[in-house]
Order: sequence, then C-alpha cells, then structure tokens
Amino acid sequence: MTVHFPFQNSYSALPDSFFARVAPTPVAAPRLIKLNRPLALQLGLDPDLLETPEGAAILAGKTVPDGADPIAMAYAGHQFGHFVPQLGDGRAILLGEVIDKDGVRRDIQLKGSGPTPFSRRGDGRAALGPVLREYIVSEAMFALGIPTTRSLAAVVTGEHVMRETALPGAVLTRVASSHIRVGTFQFFAARRDTEAVRRLADHVIVRHYPELRNAERPYHALLAGVVARQADLVARWLLVGFIHGVMNTDNSSISGETIDYGPCAFMDAYNPSQVFSSIDEMGRYAYANQPRIALWNLTRLAECLLPLFSDEQEKAVAEAQDILGAFSDQFSAAYQAGLRRKVGLFTERDGDEALIQDLLDAMAKNQADFTLTFRKLGDAAVDDSADARAQFMEPAAFDEWAGRWRARIALEPQGASERQAAMHAVNPMFIPRNHRVEAVIQTAVDDDNYAPFEELVKVLAKPFDDQPEYAAYADPPLPDQRVLQTFCGT
Ligand code: AMP
Ligand code: MG
Repeated sequence: MTVHFPFQNSYSALPDSFFARVAPTPVAAPRLIKLNRPLALQLGLDPDLLETPEGAAILAGKTVPDGADPIAMAYAGHQFGHFVPQLGDGRAILLGEVIDKDGVRRDIQLKGSGPTPFSRRGDGRAALGPVLREYIVSEAMFALGIPTTRSLAAVVTGEHVMRETALPGAVLTRVASSHIRVGTFQFFAARRDTEAVRRLADHVIVRHYPELRNAERPYHALLAGVVARQADLVARWLLVGFIHGVMNTDNSSISGETIDYGPCAFMDAYNPSQVFSSIDEMGRYAYANQPRIALWNLTRLAECLLPLFSDEQEKAVAEAQDILGAFSDQFSAAYQAGLRRKVGLFTERDGDEALIQDLLDAMAKNQADFTLTFRKLGDAAVDDSADARAQFMEPAAFDEWAGRWRARIALEPQGASERQAAMHAVNPMFIPRNHRVEAVIQTAVDDDNYAPFEELVKVLAKPFDDQPEYAAYADPPLPDQRVLQTFCGT
C-alpha cells in the first residue's frame, strides 16, 4: 500500500510570480517521532500508512507523494517595522492542498525541508527544538479553541543543522487553511502589480471568505473580514495569556489563524508588558501591545488593497480608514466579553469593566499567575477563595476584590455549580508553560527521549479538564525554573 494524499491544489495554479516550484531536498535517515493521528484522519490520510517508513520519507521530504505540486510561496513583509520586499518560504515547501472531512481546504506544508529560491543565506532547515516547540504550542492552541495552524507530524532527519552548535535536524508538517499572509499582498503591492493583488484577493475571497463573493464591494468586504478575524484572534490570545513574539506582517495570516510559532510563549505571572522573545528588544510585540500591532499590520494590508478600492486615491484611503476604524471596537467587544466569561458573569452591568480591570491590576501588582487565578476563581464560585487568593503576593488585595465580585455575582440567578462549570470551560487548567516546554525539548534533543514530550502533548490536549493525575503540569515555574527568554531558533 502506498500513502495516498488526495491533493486538490489551487494555489499552484495561480500565475508563476506567486511562487517558485521546488522539491524538498532528501534527507539522510528520516525517523517519525510524532504523528497527529486524529488530524491525519481529519485530512483524509491513513495514519497507519503515514507511520510506515514510506510515510516517514514523505513527511521528511525524502519522497514526494503523487499529486503533490511542491512550491515555495512568495511573500514580503514588515519585520519589526522595516519593510523587506522579498522574504518568501525560505525553509518551507507547500506539498499541496487537500479537502478535509468538513469540506475545508487545508495546506500541507513541510517546514525545514531544504533550501528554496527564497532561502537567502539560510540553510532551509529546522532544528528539532523549534519543531517540537511549534508542535506543542500549536496543538495546545487548537485544544484551547483558538484559530491556528496545526501540526501533523514531526520527523528527525538524521542530519545535523548548524546553529550556534550542531543540532539534530527535523521537519514539521504544518497544516493551515492557507499560508497566505499580509506579506503575500505586500509582495505584489510593492511591485505595483495591481493585477496580481486582484488575483490574490479573488483567490482569498473564494477560499476564506466565500460569503463575500457577491458583496457589492468585495474587496472592501474582504478587508473588513480580515479586520474582524484578526480582532477576534488577538482578543483570544490575550484571554489565555499568549504572546506571539514576532507579529511581523509576514507572520500575520489572512485566514485569521495563529501562524509561525517562533519565540512565542504563554505568560505565567500576569504582566501586561511581558516580552519573552530575545529579538524583541524594544518590546514591540509585548503582550498588551498585540492589539495595536494587529491593527498596524491590517493597515499595511489596507494599503495593498487601495488600488482595488478606487482609482481616486483620497477616496480609497478614506474608505480604508473607515473599515480599519472598526478594529478597536471589535477587539474590545471580544476581549471584554471574554473577560466577563472568565470571571463568571452571565449578564452585563455598569461597572463590570472596572471591576474586572481592578482584578487585572491587582494581579499585575501581586504577580498572580494568570492561568491559575482565573481557574481557581471558578472554584471560588462554589467554595471558598483559598486557592485563588494564594496566587497573590498580598492575599488581602484579592480579598478586597473578591468581596465586590461575590456581591456582583449574587445579582445573577445562575447557581454556583453552573457558574463554576461555565468558568472552567473558558479558563484552562493547563497551558504550555515555558519551563515545561523547554524541559521536554531538552530531553528530546539531549537524550533522544520523547516520552516527556508525548506526555506534555497529551495533557495539553485537554486543557479544560482537571486531570488530577497530571496536576503538576498546572504549576507555575519555581523561581529557578523560570524561563526569561525564548528564541526563534531559525
Ligand atoms: P520567520 O522568522 O520564521 O518568520 O522567518 C522569516 C523569513 O526567514 C522567512 O522568509 C523564512 O522563510 C526565512 N527563514 C527562516 N529560517 C530560515 C532558514 N533556516 N533557512 C532559510 N530561510 C529561513
Ligand atoms: Mg514567518
């Protein structure tokens, strides 16, 4: 039996300027270390066959499956605010697209599969550590209900990649509803190729926003659609304490999925100005800056679309500004509604926003763990507040707030256990804590032992379940376990 990928490729049918045709570079000794079996089934792939040596060879880029049309996609991007007119897939190759069990078109891409015409000075490869990191965090995001690219598989290549030291090489198979980015539009806009921008926009509408096909002004509607999805996405990030780390326009997906997991991290103690990425020296992509940056990136997208809006520049700009103007309210509405759910409010009243902000302020002042404070607040709805208050350096700060919170929830008809269940459904017990992620990566890289990685992935697949046997995974780091910086590892 050979592994069959039911490819139905559409991106590679676009004009040649959209990509470069390039096959993955074969590797020495591919070995499958993780297959996401449920995702394989969802994609119409046979997980048993993917686990054979032949399957591993495909997932490592050693053999190209029938029906694949391997390409590296072209894109540009603003990196930390500076425009780079040509980036592109320098170490990723899109094998093709399949239609999944829900009828959704999904890209299957190998990341770390060798050089492409976009590699610049890079080697086109990925190290095992960052591959495992992306696997863990992207799948955790999925389990948390946040739009994201997925991870289908991780293979080690049997080769080394040179970074600061020689590291084991690996390939991640990434699945996305597409890999089209704000930077993809920028690539053509920078070349003043309005026809290509239009082709791309048409492709995106059919693929990601089919409901807009018959809109009176489809390109305006497209911008509004991307604005709405990004506003929702960033609100969801903030509500779980996620920091993307590299929100460059080339890492900003048009479909509204979280994409490009590099130095991303979840915060432990709540700190709005938290930054982990070693390369984000100015804090441009700090936790609380993320909504502002999302809007900045969307403004770059709007600039690309201006020629499609109107021949009159001033009119086009005014229309774009009008659409971008919706972001702030959309973000706030999603964020505030999410916060209300996190503190167990079923209804909306004057003063709620201030009440919740007071909790956040107290958490920041008291270095309260973001995840556990909300999780334990759910338990405080049925029981006393002991576990929640224990998150605060000065528990009295929590007690004062909790008195007001109890008075507020008493105004609602819902019972205590109903409230606890609703809170537990939105406040995870388990997030991919940095110290855990780093520890399982180290064991995999140093000892070729994947058991801790497997266990972490398993726990994170059910973030809202108590899983008492894995309670230790919910613990914040001890002072000496704290991870202060994360790295892209590219
Ligand atoms: P990233 O920081 O991963 O979003 O990547 C930014 C750009 O650098 C993209 O164009 C990547 O394809 C490229 N890149 C990152 N790492 C490598 C590598 N090892 N080899 C070639 N290109 C790379
Ligand atoms: Mg990127």
